[in-house]
Amino acid sequence: MNPSVRAHVGLGANLGDARATLTQALAALAALPDSRLVGASSLYRSAPVDAEGPDFINAVAAIDTTLGPLALLQALQRIEADHGRLRPYRHAPRTLDLDLLLHGATRMAGPELTLPHPRGHLRAFVLHPLAEIAPDLVWPGHGRVAALAAALQGQAIERIAP
Ligand code: AMP
Repeated sequence: MNPSVRAHVGLGANLGDARATLTQALAALAALPDSRLVGASSLYRSAPVDAEGPDFINAVAAIDTTLGPLALLQALQRIEADHGRLRPYRHAPRTLDLDLLLHGATRMAGPELTLPHPRGHLRAFVLHPLAEIAPDLVWPGHGRVAALAAALQGQAIERIAP
């Protein structure tokens, strides 16, 4: 069995009842095999970045898991599919988007998965919720999450619910 690592998952939705979708997605993360949900941020509202449609509802979850990175990504993609996610075209509005932000200290760049997530450290909708639950976490190559979040300029985001 793999050793247990702390993974962080970014959740986003901007179609339908996005708040309900995120609540259901957190329940699905809590039910993942070989995994334990150990933290979840508040819900946030953010303007779309690299996407279209209404504002997003976002959150970040922390999971202790013995799933390897690809197995965890596949599990996240199954949860997305269960929420009817369609990919009619790149950057289309989405019912539910789950990004694997960090998987312990894993660093990899493959056709299916890049870790850490290549754009997570640049995005307010990742860094603000992540800083709420793990301010001292170091994003490999970039520094402390709380400092990265504080340094971001010009990306509209607000905390909407605990
Ligand atoms: P998107 O449609 O923007 O959610 O992108 C999903 C695609 O990005 C999938 O095909 C994944 O295989 C790929 N991908 C690469 N790295 C990651 C990551 N760290 N988290 C989630 N998806 C990833």
